[in-house]
Amino acid sequence: MRLILLGPPGAGKGTQAARLEKKFGIRQLSTGDMLRAAVAAGSPIGVKAKAVMERGELVSDDIVIGIISDRIDEPDVANGYILDGFPRTVAQAQALDALLVKKGSKLDRVIEIAVDDGALVERIAGRYSCKKCGAGYHDLHQKPKVEGVCDSCGSEDFLRRADDNAETVKSRLEAYHAQTAPLVVYYSGKELLHSVDGMADIDKVTEEIVGELKAIGA
Ligand code: ADP
Ligand code: ADP
Ligand code: ZN
Repeated sequence: MRLILLGPPGAGKGTQAARLEKKFGIRQLSTGDMLRAAVAAGSPIGVKAKAVMERGELVSDDIVIGIISDRIDEPDVANGYILDGFPRTVAQAQALDALLVKKGSKLDRVIEIAVDDGALVERIAGRYSCKKCGAGYHDLHQKPKVEGVCDSCGSEDFLRRADDNAETVKSRLEAYHAQTAPLVVYYSGKELLHSVDGMADIDKVTEEIVGELKAIGA
């Protein structure tokens, strides 16, 4: 199964992708995570992307298309994947279509997680993750069972993203509305789009997505 999770920053794409990864045994591919790893490693791509990401703007189509093109060729995603944060522009969506045609493969579903802008600011402000395993948390909505200890790996080290600050969030939301929201129309025109109410609580959103995927035979 090949899926796209589409939605604004803070909508819950990463949270839901991690759950779908466990449930269906397919990998979550997050361009944001890959770019952050490149920045941390100081690779040539990371050096180019760092300032752009700090401003809350989009990294160039060429860079992210290159990353995804290489990644979806790897054997661990032969049975499918969940794209989280890609594509983010119509040019990226068209490039993905071309890559899939070349590989003789296709998308099964594009799930839009719809959330009001007002709620996104609060979700992003409260977001943090485990430094060791990457598990995602929120100050109010998704606390670890034992305070200060990661549920998944037991680590006590957490981190917050450099771009999760009030000023950058504003640019990221603008970038979403200007450059990514047109993908809703793009994929609904291809009859691939299914929207879920991302304002609901985390378990309910998972239930809605799983229901839709079962309906298409997952
Ligand atoms: P969010 O939580 O906002 O959905 P991501 O982790 O997906 O954030 O992305 C963080 C940043 O990485 C973005 O603001 C952007 O600068 C860059 N980025 C991630 N994916 C893409 C992409 N597909 N195209 C361009 N830039 C991207
Ligand atoms: P995205 O990957 O779309 O940027 P995340 O999955 O990182 O978003 O979610 C952003 C923050 O909001 C995280 O701290 C997460 O715990 C929290 N969150 C995710 N889904 C919901 C939800 N349905 N209700 C409340 N909080 C949520
Ligand atoms: Zn952990």
